[in-house]
Amino acid sequence: MAKTVTLADGTKLPALGMGTWNMGESSATWKEEVASLRHGVEAGLKVVDTAEMYGQGRSESLVGEALRDVRDDVFLVTKILPSNASAEGVAKACRSSLRRLGTDRIDLYLLHWRGSVPLAETIDAFRKLKEDGLIRYWGVSNFDVQDMLELERYSRSCECAANQILYSLEHRGVEYDLLDTNRFRHVMTMAYSPIGQGGALLRNAALRTVAARHTTAHGPASPAQIALAWVLRMDNVMPIPKAGSLAHLKDNIAAQDITLTEQDLADLDAAFPPPASKTPLEMI
Ligand code: NAP
Repeated sequence: MAKTVTLADGTKLPALGMGTWNMGESSATWKEEVASLRHGVEAGLKVVDTAEMYGQGRSESLVGEALRDVRDDVFLVTKILPSNASAEGVAKACRSSLRRLGTDRIDLYLLHWRGSVPLAETIDAFRKLKEDGLIRYWGVSNFDVQDMLELERYSRSCECAANQILYSLEHRGVEYDLLDTNRFRHVMTMAYSPIGQGGALLRNAALRTVAARHTTAHGPASPAQIALAWVLRMDNVMPIPKAGSLAHLKDNIAAQDITLTEQDLADLDAAFPPPASKTPLEMI
């Protein structure tokens, strides 16, 4: 059975989600991106992450078009820009996101990163959206430990459902303190850019060596699948890789079948050492 994560109220979600940054940018790739998202939902992936920022709303529009008729099978996550995070800004931005997404509710609404609007004001605005039934949960993104502690001053226990942060083999600083800070507060961690945006990480020699030891239903494992399996093994952490192509999406689904051995983990630790001290949260 596919791995799950659990929200503070006990709601379970598949641990593998789907990102959509850079989707909807070009008419040439639109059809394949829609097909990829639809295949993911049909395969039970459920969680789709987007943001009003992505392509200035085009990613939300693509998600809306792709998933309108399967809306009830999807857990829709979108993010509000910090510049819109005032009381009036939140209400307006949420209505715009709902319109682009073609739905009457957002399942999880995240503050994309901290800005100048006081947190208490944004949280109150999120509460109002929840009371009005426009969002089901709210959360944050790119919040480091200090930000989470400050958030606690303005919110009730378990109110913040998720913290979406940069986490991959290349960016392990959060293992020092932030992952536990989230976990102890029942805040689900969403790991963004889990496969290093398809860049240098996938050419790493250690990752390739570990990949050569594994196979999946699709054949020999790829470095991307190992990078994903490595994040997926963590407790209550949801990686949200973006796959604009169907082939990549199928690869990512198959990564759920990979169990890394002690030797694999030791080799990956040697190539990507865990943090020995606090490092400020990185963001892309
Ligand atoms: P990513 O998921 O680590 O990497 C995406 C790239 O990897 C794409 O170029 C994709 O290619 C490629 N890829 C996907 N699956 C692959 C596979 N199996 N083998 C080889 N290549 C593969 O990076 P990301 O898009 O930056 O992060 C994921 C999601 O996190 C975003 O889409 C977004 O939803 C979210 N995010 C949030 C924040 C934040 O501040 N909260 C910041 C960054 C990202 P194709 O598209 O061609 O398939």
